[in-house]
Amino acid sequence: MNQPRASLIPAFQSEADQTLEVLLGSHNLEKDYEPFTLPKLAIVTCMDYRIQLRLPKNFAFVLRTGGANIRPIETYLAFSVARTGIHAIAIIGHTDCAMEKPDPYVVDELPTDNETKIFYRSQIASLAIKDAREYTLAQAKMLEERLGLPGLPLIYDVETHKLELL
Ligand SMILES: [Zn+2]
Repeated sequence: MNQPRASLIPAFQSEADQTLEVLLGSHNLEKDYEPFTLPKLAIVTCMDYRIQLRLPKNFAFVLRTGGANIRPIETYLAFSVARTGIHAIAIIGHTDCAMEKPDPYVVDELPTDNETKIFYRSQIASLAIKDAREYTLAQAKMLEERLGLPGLPLIYDVETHKLELL
């Protein structure tokens, strides 16, 4: 009970490594795998329309937010991994992410009232991630500390459509 959370991670490292091998094998190498009985991975990635993951059946939960920001979905993540016994989480940032330097004034395009636009603008500004690689690494580390499970930081290249482990 008084055990520090970080010490739990080595116990799941080899399982996380195997899971990573399946993720990279399926997506990057287009290998086929038998359908899984239970999911092995939770993936948090950006909602960007260019990201299309190739995954085995029943292999992973996929949660998508702007910039692969964990904050808005952290409780769903904790709930899903605990409920299904998942022992690894992949954070997948990507190249050319609009959330690195989001322009809050794009909401002026919306046919809505000024008060609503002001609200969205302030929210968008606070969601900037600055650098996708650094942000992805920092989020993986933060999740390891909070959940006690290995976090796998990856970058999705929107031009080559390949994943790269950071
Ligand atoms: Zn993005």
